[in-house]
Amino acid sequence: MDKIRMNTPLVEIDGDEMTRVLWQWVKDILITPYVDLKTEYYDLSLENRDATDDKVTVEAAEACLRLGVGVKCATITPNAQRVEEFGLKKMWASPNATIRAKMDGTVFRAPVIVRGITPLVPGWKKPIVIARHAYGDVYKGVEMKAKGGKATLSCDGNTVTVFDFGGKEGILQAIHNTKASIESFARSCFNYALDTRNDLWFSTKDTISKTYDHTFKDIFQDIYDAEYKAKFEAAGIEYFYTLIDDAVARVMRSEGGFIWALKNYDGDVMSDMVATAFGSLAMMTSVLVSPTGAYEFEAAHGTVTRHYRKYQKGEETSTNSVATLFAWTGALKKRGELDGNKELAGFAERLEKATIDTIESGEMTKDLAGMFKLDGVSVKALNSKEFLEAIAKRL
Ligand code: NAP
Ligand code: MG
Repeated sequence: MDKIRMNTPLVEIDGDEMTRVLWQWVKDILITPYVDLKTEYYDLSLENRDATDDKVTVEAAEACLRLGVGVKCATITPNAQRVEEFGLKKMWASPNATIRAKMDGTVFRAPVIVRGITPLVPGWKKPIVIARHAYGDVYKGVEMKAKGGKATLSCDGNTVTVFDFGGKEGILQAIHNTKASIESFARSCFNYALDTRNDLWFSTKDTISKTYDHTFKDIFQDIYDAEYKAKFEAAGIEYFYTLIDDAVARVMRSEGGFIWALKNYDGDVMSDMVATAFGSLAMMTSVLVSPTGAYEFEAAHGTVTRHYRKYQKGEETSTNSVATLFAWTGALKKRGELDGNKELAGFAERLEKATIDTIESGEMTKDLAGMFKLDGVSVKALNSKEFLEAIAKRL
């Protein structure tokens, strides 16, 4: 059988621990036997980030912008314990934060849905994709304790009183955002909605925050009207703005099937709620989209250290590779679309279907086996490699 050809290489960003092991197995068992895989490879293992003074991370992000599509393995974000474990030169920044900043991107988190794993919200039938604005607000806030003075906010020659504490103690916080960042966020969301043919919801608290949150609302609306309205209408999808509390109520009552764009803090909180309600972190994929239309696909979970410790001791693990695998299929599909390579995109779709069919027929990793329930299907828990082999058989 001839292997499927690729026109343009993918940016392949390798990572750490258990996910690095799965990475190689996914490629060996499910991709390279069928695809003549072309990649530009960046090794973001913590050892190599340290050896290159983290230059490799910046180069990987630049490659994503240049080639348009990347796929990333989970990586360790070092803390004090990791600095000691790996004898690092310094506590390098989170690779995801570095790549996100470089690509000026928005992160979209989407669950993989299978029959048998029922969301905790029984009405949810289709994915709810969370788009989190990953810049500014409280994450770049400045704070202080007040001893009793009068707090003011000043900028560009204007000064307003925040609060006169009148001798009483209190606390203060100032936050900011930039027009450019909000515009990039808006364009990434509109592009992703068009790309996936999903409605886009956006929500803030503009009734209370009449300048700050209202500016988010206005920027989204202006960009929508000027650049996207006609395209949305042609694609048969909707842009819908509502207050955050109204959005929360509607999301709970909905059956899913839309993208929910959220400010930084709202997205942080809501993405954990939605991920948990859909069943498992191991089934949650994530894609970073730049406003220029470059894509970086990954799993939402980490390097699964606890399983890696067992693997290092030669023990068997039952680590779920679905999110990592869907990062690969997402990237291959996107590459296929951009290059007009139908065979490549079609292969990625068949691989996704084979994965879902495998789980729905009862073969899955342990994390899912515990919660799977489907009439007439008996559950068989497989180890990490057996699961990939079961998919290959079906493929
Ligand atoms: P984690 O790797 O997501 O794992 C936490 C726990 O969730 C695991 O111990 C496991 O539970 C379960 N789990 C996660 N993914 C799974 C999978 N694919 N299959 C089965 N179970 C899975 O989070 P962490 O242990 O907090 O972080 C480990 C390292 O990952 C850290 O160094 C962190 O910096 C890094 N990290 C990287 C990223 C990224 O690159 N995007 C994101 C988050 C964390 P059980 O042990 O109960 O089986
Ligand atoms: Mg969070």
